Amino acid sequence: MLIVMKADATNQEIDHVVSIIQEMGYKAHPERGATRTAIAITGNQGAVDVTRFENLSGVAEAIRVTKPYKLITLDLRPEQTIVRVGDAAIGGEELAIIAGPCAIESRTQALTVAKAVYRSGARFFRGGAFKPRSSPYAFQGLGEEGLKIMAEVRDVYGLKIVTEALDEAGADLVERYGDMIQIGARSMQNFSLLRRVGRSHLPVLLKRGLSATLEELLLAAEYILAEGNDQVVLCERGIRTFTQHTRNTLDLAIIPAVRSISHLPIIVDPSHAAGKSSMVTPLARAGVAVGADGLIVEVHDQPEHALSDGAQALTLDQYDELVHEVRAIHEAITPVAVT
Ligand code: PEP
Ligand code: MN
Repeated sequence: MLIVMKADATNQEIDHVVSIIQEMGYKAHPERGATRTAIAITGNQGAVDVTRFENLSGVAEAIRVTKPYKLITLDLRPEQTIVRVGDAAIGGEELAIIAGPCAIESRTQALTVAKAVYRSGARFFRGGAFKPRSSPYAFQGLGEEGLKIMAEVRDVYGLKIVTEALDEAGADLVERYGDMIQIGARSMQNFSLLRRVGRSHLPVLLKRGLSATLEELLLAAEYILAEGNDQVVLCERGIRTFTQHTRNTLDLAIIPAVRSISHLPIIVDPSHAAGKSSMVTPLARAGVAVGADGLIVEVHDQPEHALSDGAQALTLDQYDELVHEVRAIHEAITPVAVT
């Protein structure tokens, strides 16, 4: 259920509705928008009695929600969410670029790549310290040591650190060293981890599962918002299909599809979609053209020696070229404010 308050509803009227929801044993999520306040109700198993709210003073309407998600919707928050990562943002006017190696391999590697990322004007540095590898014998990441290296990258270049947590203990560590917690494709339905990052003070980058539907992705985000953290960025990183020419199939249609339902920003990961460096830049261009709020891209100073995902890593020069191209596209499609 969603209670939409009148545009001129007073704080007292809003508080009264919230207290009635709580008295009924449910959770109230008031959303104070630019033009009106809406209050989502969660925690109910069956239908909530509409008549309880319809005649309360300040209430414009009580809407039954038929979709399984409540907090990620434009019905609750019609304005797009801007996710703040310190003094940087994702979902605002600027195209967000998150770049770095798949895995942090050494201090020298991380600092070399970070220098190129910083020089490109990007605000975010990515790098895995805990790697979800298909094989238990593959390089699993440097763990806390990798996080310490990324904390140094932040100190040296001022870049915001985006890094994956594989489990709840990992989330504790990412909170200590990082700026944004990445939930990987393989963890998109790890519900206890989603709940854990929903209680974090850090923003979350939520990647689409390998075979997740749009609804499953949005419900994964709903888990995080339901715990109180609305700083969530969605990420399309390609899904499993029958194609053999790419590692995954980049589903660009999900960007306008998300826009029509949710206020959450969405970015594109052309690297894990392509699996091959030669396809990363064309897919990045397409992602920006279709309206993504940003990109997350894998870059390596020596892709041929990378310990993970080397085939899809851009060289520093290729990365530089990508940034120039996607910025031009973003500028071309951004409406100019009429003064
Ligand atoms: C990654 O970003 O390196 C990664 C493992 O991504 P995904 O979870 O999308 O496979
Ligand atoms: Mn990777």
